[in-house]
Amino acid sequence: MNLLKKYFNFDLNTQKNHKIMTVAYAVAIIFAFVVSLSNNNDVSASVSRNDISRQLAEEAALTADISEDISESSPVYSDNSISNIRNLFEKVISESVEKIVEQEIIVQKGDSFISILGDLGLGYNESYQLSQVLKKVYNPANLRIGQKIAVTTKINSHKHELLSIENITIEPKIGLRYILTKNEKAQYVALEIKDELMDEINSASGVINGTVSTALRAQGVPAAVVNDFVKIFAYSVDFRREVRKGDRFEIVFENKITPEGKVVKSGDILYAALKLRNNKLELYRFEDANGTVSYYNEKGQAMKKFLHRKPMSYQQARISSPFGKRRHPIHKDIRIHWGVDYAAPKNSLIYAGGDGVVVAAKYNGGYGNYIKIKHNSEYSTAYGHMNKFAKGIKPGVRVKQGQLIGYVGSTGRSTGPHLHYEVIYKGRRVNPLTIKAATGENLKGNNLKKFKKVVADLKQTYTKMFAENEEKDTPTKLSQR
Ligand SMILES: [Zn+2]
Repeated sequence: MNLLKKYFNFDLNTQKNHKIMTVAYAVAIIFAFVVSLSNNNDVSASVSRNDISRQLAEEAALTADISEDISESSPVYSDNSISNIRNLFEKVISESVEKIVEQEIIVQKGDSFISILGDLGLGYNESYQLSQVLKKVYNPANLRIGQKIAVTTKINSHKHELLSIENITIEPKIGLRYILTKNEKAQYVALEIKDELMDEINSASGVINGTVSTALRAQGVPAAVVNDFVKIFAYSVDFRREVRKGDRFEIVFENKITPEGKVVKSGDILYAALKLRNNKLELYRFEDANGTVSYYNEKGQAMKKFLHRKPMSYQQARISSPFGKRRHPIHKDIRIHWGVDYAAPKNSLIYAGGDGVVVAAKYNGGYGNYIKIKHNSEYSTAYGHMNKFAKGIKPGVRVKQGQLIGYVGSTGRSTGPHLHYEVIYKGRRVNPLTIKAATGENLKGNNLKKFKKVVADLKQTYTKMFAENEEKDTPTKLSQR
């Protein structure tokens, strides 16, 4: 069936004209073939076989009713041969009114699988039986409004009657298809087909003129991948302060694609680099022997910091109030500010600063909506003024570093939307920007050996390409004479 599908190129929306042409052409070929098979030297020598068959085919292809008088369009020949041709023609027509039609049906409100088949002209009992066959792999009750169903039917093109359902394909999601079709004994069978997804490696590089995100998006990097890029660098870079106009990025990531090349999932970042003014930060993805995935620099040193400095999606957030002594914006006296304030648009995402357990998620006086996470016996972090908590965030819930826990707001004593972020060390609040908490573990032994191989492979494939891209992007100076 795939072959047929390919040949006819049935993409109903975009290829309609092409399809009609192709069908007409195919019908013409079939006619010509049948004619040449059934022809047995009776046709007068003055009429070439090819001419007749082509003419027949052309007429049939236009799906006109059979012309009563085909002699008009034929050259001179005997009565005998005319009647022969007519017999032949009728035979061809009667054998060829069967037509395969492919169509795409969109499930409408009130439709059921059985009613859809009914609309195609199939009787209730047969429709019911087909639905029972399909049920072995897919429950037709799961069809949703707007879902597309591809149907191939055999019809009598003269009477416009359904002869049979050849097959039905339901694709609830990319990479998963349920097909109702006939086996070699012409019995209906239902199949579940899962496409084997393949990895497709992509790369991009470019100049950063605005934000890092815009630069990546401009090179066609999917939004989800851009988000991850920002997240994995959040451990080591303050995008707002350290990334400047003219800096560059490089990225290698993999997509999961179907055999037809449709992207199902934008996948993991294998390599990410930020080429800053006087510093190049490179991160390589590595899965160690325990299956733990982390990002490391070229030497195999973990880039994941124990706690985030700015645990939020909005990396442009500026510090609106640092840690330490300050004049209180509401009380107007000198007080100690026990955290860092990051001004950010309302509902910007707030992430857990590190792995841990939520110990508080409640309205907490001046803090407004407040979350506290305990990371270990020494460290906790706290988040204030949230507009709301993320779904499922409540005391006792375990969270991972970088997991969404809530949204920026201005609840409690606050003058505008911002995140108030505290790091608590042994019961005392400390400056989140200067803590020297342990970093992740560095690779060693066998893991390090394997990691070096990963790095070497990536370098071999991409270093030259990225360098060439950079040359292209860099405006060349006028040569001096
Ligand atoms: Zn604050």
